[in-house]
This record gives sequence, structure tokens and C-alpha cells, in this order.
Amino acid sequence: KYSAANVAQVTAANAAIAPLEAGDFRDWPEYRQVAAIEGFFAGENPYCAPREGTIGRQVTIAGRDYDTFCGYNYLGYNGSQAVEKAVIRALRRHGSSASASRVAGGECDIHRELESALAAHLGSEDTIVTVGGYIANVACIRFLMGEGDLILFDEYCHNSLIEGCASSKARRMQFHHNNLDHLEKLLASQRNQHRRALIVVESVYSMDGDIVDLARLVDIKRRHNAYLMVDEAHSIGVLGERGRGLCEHAGVDPREVDILMGTLSKSLASCGGFIAGSRALTGLLRYIAPGFLLYSAGIPPTSCAASLAVLQILATDNSQVLKLQQNAARFRAIARELELDTGLADTTPIVPVMLGAAGDSVEKMAWVTRELFRRGIHVVGITYPVVPRNEARLRFFLTAEHSEDQYRRALTLTREVMREILEVQP
Ligand code: PMP
Repeated sequence: KYSAANVAQVTAANAAIAPLEAGDFRDWPEYRQVAAIEGFFAGENPYCAPREGTIGRQVTIAGRDYDTFCGYNYLGYNGSQAVEKAVIRALRRHGSSASASRVAGGECDIHRELESALAAHLGSEDTIVTVGGYIANVACIRFLMGEGDLILFDEYCHNSLIEGCASSKARRMQFHHNNLDHLEKLLASQRNQHRRALIVVESVYSMDGDIVDLARLVDIKRRHNAYLMVDEAHSIGVLGERGRGLCEHAGVDPREVDILMGTLSKSLASCGGFIAGSRALTGLLRYIAPGFLLYSAGIPPTSCAASLAVLQILATDNSQVLKLQQNAARFRAIARELELDTGLADTTPIVPVMLGAAGDSVEKMAWVTRELFRRGIHVVGITYPVVPRNEARLRFFLTAEHSEDQYRRALTLTREVMREILEVQP
């Protein structure tokens, strides 16, 4: 039906899908950002810097040693002899690849051994591993939640969780970061209009280093008849006296978390992801959900061996976990002494140093990062859209291997650079 408004709407819609020429990718407007980053950091780029050797408290880049705060090798087991031996053994036994999806010929005994060890460590009934944490989140949420369902997720959730929510056909609503009152309000008004409901949170938020109130969440999910999914990427091996994660830290029975996600790529010294929960849940993911064992090759046996070796150590020895926790606490205390703003950081080894007045500018954040790199400190700055506008920050990852002298120096230099370059009192 003709109306001026209709014509305008159709014209706008057509303009939006007008075919573009398939030209050189360098002509894409988005490419300007790539060129800007590469131009600014030319020859001394701390982002995507190829390293020699492993990453722990130090890293070697282009022949120079840096004190680094950019690795998730939380417990320092990547590069340890125990892990190396286990990987070589698995390589000799199974080769370097699963060579098929696990439902076809890719299943190796070490896949099941790792899944049992993860379940034992976490106190869950079962687990299922996949090639990456990212795909574990996307594939799990997309498969479990569909039309007529409701997903409520924290606004600071990791991109893989958001992608999982976005690619499901469920209704999606975000609640304010760690604001469980807001979550309850949304559940109270929306739950009854939907079939199933899922609450999605992280145990430790990867940009802020703060922790969710798990005991309260469990109470909320029970009262509102919802499932609870917790991404424990940054808490396994990190929180709790024995490194069992948020449940141990919060004194909550792990079986209360319906879907517990984790990664092998951080404290577990490898690469891969997993979902832990009831045997019924892992059965669904194992045999029906695309992206786990279906339509994707099995995780390499060598990757399983590395994490299995770490779990075997953690079963009897929590010394690295305790060292990590001590370092995280000392680091925050020193940052406070130096009057640096660590934002929302809680008792975790992820500690942001907020750039304050520099938070409104990508350029200033890039300057701080580059200056620190020049002074031998490898830490990267993060800005919008990864974090909210005006909240640019340096994000420090602590490990069990760092020494107090080392991070005191890094923090002192950070303050110095912020003063010099930004002319801002931190
Ligand atoms: N969840 C969170 C909170 C993460 O920080 C990450 C990765 N940094 C992932 C999921 C994805 O895990 P992976 O690296 O194993 O793909």
C-alpha cells in the first residue's frame, strides 16, 4: 500500500542491501582499524607478538625478554616436565590427531580418561570435551535453547556465550553486570511466558576479574525454575583451596550448576573446552548436539594428555594454586598502595588497571601499552568494544610463577607511564 513512509522504508531497506563490489579487502572501511594498529605499533607490536618458548612470568619476543602479564598459564604447568612427558607419551601412542570425529573413528581412550578426571576434579557426574572453549559455549547454548525459551545473561558475558545466545532461537535478555536483583526482576516478569529458562553467567569475569555470587544464583534459579550455566574458564585451577573452581570457593555443591563450562587453555595447560553436568546432559551433547562429537574432529590426544597430567598433579598437590592466590592478593594490594584503580577486581588473578582519563581514547591506551612494552613489560591494553566506552584498561594476568619484585616493578612502571604519557594522576 502506497504511503510516503512506506516508500522511505523500502528505499532504506534496498539501500542497505545494495550489492557492493567484491574488491580488495584493504578497501573495506573496517580495514582502517587494522592499518591503524599495524602502523602505530610498527616493529614493536605487543599484540599478536610471536614468542619464543613458553609463556609464564617471562616471555621472549624477537630475542628480548619481557616480564609478561598476558598469559593464562595460571599454574605454570605449560612447559613443565610432567606435561611434556605426558604429551610425548600420547603422541607416540595415538599420533598427533584424532583423525576423525569421535562418533566415527576419532575416539581415543585418553578422551574418556580426561573426561573422567575432569568430572572427578569438579565433582560433577560427567563431562564432555571439545576442541575449544569458544565452540563449547556456542554449541551448547545454541543446541539447548530454542523457540519459546528464555535466556538471561550477564551483560559482561564473554563473546562466546553471547554468540551462543545469539545463534539460538530463544528470546534473549541481558541483565546488568552482577546485578542479581535485576536478574530476579526479569525472571519475575518473563519466566511464565516462556517454556524453558536459562541463566548464563561467568564465575570470574575475564575483563574485570570479579566473581559472581553463586549461592544466591542457585537460590534464584531454583525459585524461578530455571537452568543455570556457569562459564568457569578463569576459575578452574584458580579458585578454591584445591583449584576446583567457583563451587569450591563458594561452598556450593557442583551438581547445583546445571551446565558448567570450562576450558583446557588456561590453568590446564592445553587447548580445548568442556561442559560438565549430569550424565543426561553430556549424553545429549555427545550424541545429538552439533559441534561436540558431531560435525567436528575430536580434540587431539596430545591436548588431552597435557590437561590430564595437570589434573593428576592437582589431585594431590595444590601448592601452585595457593601460590597463584597469594600472588593475586599481593598484586592487588601493591596496586592499591600505588593508588592505581583496579576496578571491580576481586580475589582473582585477573586484575585490570583502569586508565581513568585515558579511558576515553584508544590512542592513549595504545601509548601506555607501547611505552610499557618498550620498558620490558608485556601487558596489553583493552578498549571499546571489548569493554564499555571510557573504561579502557590494562589487563594483568597473574600466575603462580610471578615474583613480587617483578609485579611491583611492573606496577611502578605503569604508574610512571600513566603520569608521563597521559599527564593524569592515576
Ligand atoms: N569463556 C571465557 C570466559 C573466556 O575467557 C574464554 C577465552 N579466553 C573462552 C570462554 C573461550 O575458551 P577457549 O580459549 O578455550 O576457546
